[in-house]
Amino acid sequence: MKIRFWGVRGSLPTPPSNAQYTDKLRNILSKAAVSDISTPVSREAFIKNLPEIERMNVGGNTACLEVRADNKLIIFDMGSGIVRLGNYLNEYEQNGKNLDIRIFLTHTHWDHIHGFPFFKPAFLPQNTLTFYSPHPNLQERLEYQQDFRFFPISLSHMASKKVFVQLEKNSEIKIGNIKIKNILQYHPGDSFGYRVTYKGKSFVYATDSEYKNLTSDFVTRHAEFIKNTDLLVFDAQYTLEEAIHKEDWGHSSAMQGVDFAILSKVKNLALFHHEPDNDDYRIHGMLKRAIEYRRANYPESKLNIFLAHEDLIINL
Ligand SMILES: [Zn+2]
Ligand SMILES: [Zn+2]
Repeated sequence: MKIRFWGVRGSLPTPPSNAQYTDKLRNILSKAAVSDISTPVSREAFIKNLPEIERMNVGGNTACLEVRADNKLIIFDMGSGIVRLGNYLNEYEQNGKNLDIRIFLTHTHWDHIHGFPFFKPAFLPQNTLTFYSPHPNLQERLEYQQDFRFFPISLSHMASKKVFVQLEKNSEIKIGNIKIKNILQYHPGDSFGYRVTYKGKSFVYATDSEYKNLTSDFVTRHAEFIKNTDLLVFDAQYTLEEAIHKEDWGHSSAMQGVDFAILSKVKNLALFHHEPDNDDYRIHGMLKRAIEYRRANYPESKLNIFLAHEDLIINL
């Protein structure tokens, strides 16, 4: 199973500002000796050796993951990251034609659907798009997003074949040999987490979920859902302090992700749904604190913690 992150930002697409770009550039240049940048070869080597924070951007596109397994293409969420995925399919996969695309939605908040009207494969009649969600009236919700008052092209004018499947809450379905289970999460308007299992490996996509002031039964159910998974993609929008202040905003923190992951013997924890107000340095700072928190509170733990960033590919 291969997972690629096309959008990792929460709430709002967030291109870097000029000030953020200059800031990063200044930090990079401060590390360079003349010999590092004097030839094309030395420049490439210099770039390759930069720390991740300066070698790349975390990325400003909102939630979208691509999963490949069992010769199937499965997409989770349709934030602005799906636009680049669509362009990629057009360029590299059968010219974007005759595609059988499955799309699972956590929920229909803007940052999880607003890329869809720009998803090029949806405009081609040779393609079939099957949408899965435990939310009712998914078709109506997507039609509403593309009502002429909000968008110039209606959903029905997108020529692909569209199929809508309403999943039962907390149920499991099979697509080929892939098992996909969902769980109801605590989030305004409800959201759903997914556990994908294929050939003995699994990953859990658990974004837009809050875990505090809840009964232990709720926590136990979620801990069970992520148990022993190889990769947990976790909503880490807030710092722990913000998560306490922003009760009922529907998001959580990296520390809560660490607690959950260790409780459930997760192997890898990807911090996801990054806050649009945070620049790369602040987001990397949150990762650093999450790692320190793990070391201080769970010194025996081998949990691998990292940032989900655009174009990150994970093979399980
Ligand atoms: Zn969101
Ligand atoms: Zn949401």
